Amino acid sequence: MWTTDPDTVVDEAFVTRRVIEAADRRAELADISDSARLVFSEADGLPGVIADRYGENVVMQIGSAGAEPWRDVVADALMSIAGVRCVYERSDTDSREREGLEPRTGVLRGNQPAPETIIHERGHRFAVDLSSGQKTGFYLDQRNARATVATVSAGRAVLNAFSYTGAFSVIAAASGATSVTSLDSSGPALQGAVRNAELNEADVGEQIEGDAFGELRRLRDRACSYDLIILDPPKFAHTEAQVDRASRAYKDLNLLATKLLTPGGILMTFSCSGGMSAELFQRVVAGAALDAKRNLRIIGRLDQPSDHPVPLAFPEASYLKGLILRAE
Ligand code: SAH
Repeated sequence: MWTTDPDTVVDEAFVTRRVIEAADRRAELADISDSARLVFSEADGLPGVIADRYGENVVMQIGSAGAEPWRDVVADALMSIAGVRCVYERSDTDSREREGLEPRTGVLRGNQPAPETIIHERGHRFAVDLSSGQKTGFYLDQRNARATVATVSAGRAVLNAFSYTGAFSVIAAASGATSVTSLDSSGPALQGAVRNAELNEADVGEQIEGDAFGELRRLRDRACSYDLIILDPPKFAHTEAQVDRASRAYKDLNLLATKLLTPGGILMTFSCSGGMSAELFQRVVAGAALDAKRNLRIIGRLDQPSDHPVPLAFPEASYLKGLILRAE
């Protein structure tokens, strides 16, 4: 749905205006980062359109049949934004298949971007692979959590589970963590973490490539413990029907992680499953702590940053929730 006003004409000018207005709303982030989500689908009045800016490059994703005819208009509008040199298409999401659309990737406007785009956020640098990274290359939506990791890592032994390209790991190391362990099932993601550590002159620390469910058990069997554990798994529930099964997976993970926490240790735990409410997530984590026989207190909450807004009239845009917990 583009508009509820019957007098509004949905044409090129309309779509262009929506893109430019959405990008303008992100200006407030310019002091923090050169990278942000410029267009967040329904939340910006452009259903099916995602646009993420990484420095001079914008990665654009068209996920629905309704948005498909507007590809060129959206690309032109993004290219007209000050400082943008390239619009790269990553329309390779599962949603396209359900909509009967072919996957499409490649340069839409401007020049082929360099194999690695270096982005800047709060004094840190990260390498982003626009053409084959997960999502559009980087988890822009965890910006607030990255700021929190910087404030709680000093003097702590850190385990970053589901580390992807190590953004949390690098920030922890650069912020005074005594040790950092990154765990991910993706070899290329862990390679990316090596690069990011290098870019920030931080120690990459220990890397474990494997399935988190098994590896966390192995760490427990080896009697390992950590003062800060970050759990940021992929989306386990893609639909509401999958929430029950997903709840069990979240409970297992949080149970395993809780057992690895030192007294006074901090657990930062996340769910990015839109189908799972913040209330349910908190209940699941509470169940895990109970089974682990540990007392944990909520000392903070995290959710999606301002470039991933949630319209009051479209609460479905809310998907990311996180709890910051301190163990007794
Ligand atoms: N915290 C990261 C983003 C994590 S995305 C950041 O801020 O950048 C989820 C990650 O989980 C991906 O990197 C994916 O490779 C990894 N992953 C998915 N299933 C996994 C599993 N079973 N065990 C370990 N890692 C897994």
